[in-house]
Amino acid sequence: MEITPGFLKDMPKIELHVHLESMMPGEMLERFAARQGKQLPRPAKELYHCSADDLSNFLAFLDSICAYVGTTEELSEVAEHAALESQRENILYMEAILNPTHWPQFTVPEIIQAVTAGFDRGQAAGGTDCRFTLSLSRTQTAEEAMELVEQMKAHRTPRLAGLSIDGNEILTGRTGERFRPAFLAAKAAGFGLTVHAGESSGPEGVRDAMDLLGADRLDHGVRAAEEPELVRRLAENQVPLNICLTSNLTLLYRCPEDHPLRRLLDAGAAVTLNRDDPTFLDGLTLTKELRRASSFGAMTGEELLNCQRTAACAAFCGEETKAALLAALADFEARL
Ligand SMILES: [Zn+2]
Repeated sequence: MEITPGFLKDMPKIELHVHLESMMPGEMLERFAARQGKQLPRPAKELYHCSADDLSNFLAFLDSICAYVGTTEELSEVAEHAALESQRENILYMEAILNPTHWPQFTVPEIIQAVTAGFDRGQAAGGTDCRFTLSLSRTQTAEEAMELVEQMKAHRTPRLAGLSIDGNEILTGRTGERFRPAFLAAKAAGFGLTVHAGESSGPEGVRDAMDLLGADRLDHGVRAAEEPELVRRLAENQVPLNICLTSNLTLLYRCPEDHPLRRLLDAGAAVTLNRDDPTFLDGLTLTKELRRASSFGAMTGEELLNCQRTAACAAFCGEETKAALLAALADFEARL
């Protein structure tokens, strides 16, 4: 199975770890800002050419750009755009993460409704089938977490797939106990559970995600590789690791050889490949991410396809959708 540009472009793709806040083109935000009589801090084309200051304060920068989205209709447009853009590189199914703490201008029910409407419109226009998880920040309280789950239950739509958590664990320390009740409640309501761990936290964050939060999937999870026993456990239980190679090579590992992707694959871990923050990573596409995995991670064509199967099986969607995704992958393979 030769890895040609056509092979990577045409491969049906499934993506489970990408933040909606990082999918808004500068030009779109410039238009939204103008409606509010505001200006971007620099020209739209350079909005994401961040300085070290922006990156050291990444979450604050995210807050500042989300503020340009002033109406629920604009938020719908953000979601619709993400669905149409993803389709251009043959992403059949995508789950985006949205963290309501970056969007204080909207209530949670407004967010759920607007994102659902945008994804509906995008798919109706031929775009990717998109779902989303709502994400807690590690700095929130147990009460705020439970409140989010209650609102998710009360305003559920077919596109709202699950509960997530992100944020810098170096700053917050271990928070598994604090968020355990909210995750249990979300699980009981039938939501999927995904947890950022093993990136800003080490192996202990990965263990807490599984043992305390009952995570179905881990976003990143790569630092589990620091503990061979934990890698064995992840492989044995086939816990999906939603790895973002480009993002990790930008923020976490100084040189590509340090990235444990190859070691995790060789140990039999369940791996998916994802963009994480495309606008902040120079407009990263999933196709580029796969190409990078084939070079830095020495992944074969079979392994890249297998990642898509792993993602299809780990998706927070119904069995019928999963079967359709797996059938599309089988069909692609048969035509090679
Ligand atoms: Zn992420």
